[in-house]
Amino acid sequence: MKQITYIGVVGAGQMGCGIAQTAASAGFNVLITDRDLNTARSGVEMIEKRLSNQVTREKISEKQRQEVTSRIEAVGNIHALADCPLVIEAATENQSLKLELFRQLDQTCQPATILASNTSSISITSIAAATERPEKVIGMHFFNPVPAMALVEVIKGLATSSATFEAVHEFAEQMGKTPVVSHDKAGFIVNRLLIPMLNEACFALEEGVASIEDIDSAMQLGCGHPMGPLTLADFIGLDTCLAIMEVLHTELGEDKYRPSPLLRQYVTAGWLGRKAGRGFYRYNS
Ligand code: NAD
Repeated sequence: MKQITYIGVVGAGQMGCGIAQTAASAGFNVLITDRDLNTARSGVEMIEKRLSNQVTREKISEKQRQEVTSRIEAVGNIHALADCPLVIEAATENQSLKLELFRQLDQTCQPATILASNTSSISITSIAAATERPEKVIGMHFFNPVPAMALVEVIKGLATSSATFEAVHEFAEQMGKTPVVSHDKAGFIVNRLLIPMLNEACFALEEGVASIEDIDSAMQLGCGHPMGPLTLADFIGLDTCLAIMEVLHTELGEDKYRPSPLLRQYVTAGWLGRKAGRGFYRYNS
């Protein structure tokens, strides 16, 4: 299998940018795209701001900032990713959108290109089936914020080859991450356990068990969680949390996975959490 020397990233939102920044910090060149060039450029600007922040806080040197920045290039569409040995998709959590993207990536990229999805919950086998190269499709599930979180879940679809798995596992380690292996079951490991807990916090709020602040404080002080569940849901993105709950509900078929109506209402209102400036809490830009 061709060695992974540079990568493509599809989706320049919070996760795509985090993946691009982490890969570039580990020495890989990165091409990043989104719906259009301007959105991809905004993502790269966000990465540059984060890196400048790290220079101010003396976490990295100015030279390192320049080196990392020089390795990331915004491009206007997926055609620019055609020759990448590995493309990591980190677009919105929506099954039909991802299936269409993988169809397009399959038609566009070299036959040797590995196509990975950062999906939080959607079946890798179903994404792979949208392509003519299911053996080269795999799940690579990072955590937010990517530069700070050590874990990557690596998920083999039914047809994923061992060669693809080994290449991606090794790449995750080269990025400085610790890979764990999950079977292709809804929610994989972390979101199978985490997102129902966040959903339950929404139910508790809806039923008047306690205030937003007290639900968060209770789980921080009583369970030692670094962030309360509603703060964490805002951080992940309420649209993403809802999409994951919908997949768990559909795939696992049990009522205990039904999404909280309050969560659904917030998403309908566009209160998507930190990235939208408002969720359970309000945020300055
Ligand atoms: P986000 O809303 O911040 O970013 C999604 C990006 O995808 C946006 O920039 C959007 O413009 C872009 N996009 C949408 N359609 C596209 C298309 N057709 N082509 C190219 N780009 C397109 O969302 P996010 O939090 O970065 O999540 C992205 C993926 O990562 C989702 O699958 C999500 O489930 C997964 N994920 C999220 C988290 C988290 O904590 N937020 C953690 C792990 C995995």
